[in-house]
Amino acid sequence: MPKTRLLGLLLLANVVCAGEAWLVGGPPLLPEAAPGAPRTIALTFDDGPVPGASEALLDALRTHGWKATFCVLGSQVALHPGLAKRMLDEGHELANHSWSHRKPTELDEQALLDEVHRATGAIEAATGQRPALYRPPYLALRPEQGALINRTCGLLVLTETWNCQDWQRPPPGAVRERMLSGIPNGSIVLAHESFPQSVAEMPGIIAELAARGYRSVTVGQLRNAVDQQP
Ligand SMILES: [Zn+2]
Repeated sequence: MPKTRLLGLLLLANVVCAGEAWLVGGPPLLPEAAPGAPRTIALTFDDGPVPGASEALLDALRTHGWKATFCVLGSQVALHPGLAKRMLDEGHELANHSWSHRKPTELDEQALLDEVHRATGAIEAATGQRPALYRPPYLALRPEQGALINRTCGLLVLTETWNCQDWQRPPPGAVRERMLSGIPNGSIVLAHESFPQSVAEMPGIIAELAARGYRSVTVGQLRNAVDQQP
């Protein structure tokens, strides 16, 4: 694991421990289900829209009636607004993943807010809706930066509860093996639109997970399901 990535995870781990109200992530959001019982997860795909990849993922999700959260880059949305609109029109959630994927922990306050504001503007221009969630690039965010974004931009900070680790560019089949190894109920699953290998495997992975009783909803829907727990 690159040192910078590790640092980001550690920073967010500290935030999770703090139990901040503006943070979505950490442990799975639902209790573990009995063996063979249905499981609900929230698939999330970062770094799009990516022509080719977005359509493949959207088609696979539609086949099973699944919903996902696309953590999009503002610069990509500006280039491909039709793909962002299709994501929203098909019932998926769009989250802010910054304008250009600069690492938040290397930015001053103004540059950080510019990255967030520009991305929200691009998403709103393409879809007519403002996002509710911000996922920091590299998951690298200091607690005070998370609080600032929440206070200034009205966004909740989205992390993950489960990672398919496609960012490590593993060999073919490795992402599939990991995804089918038993994702806990209520997990927010981090994957990417930007790695062709994992995108190519994702339709088959989704079909197999569906056959095993899984379904995916948006992060917003998963949070609502948690709120409705007895
Ligand atoms: Zn990213």
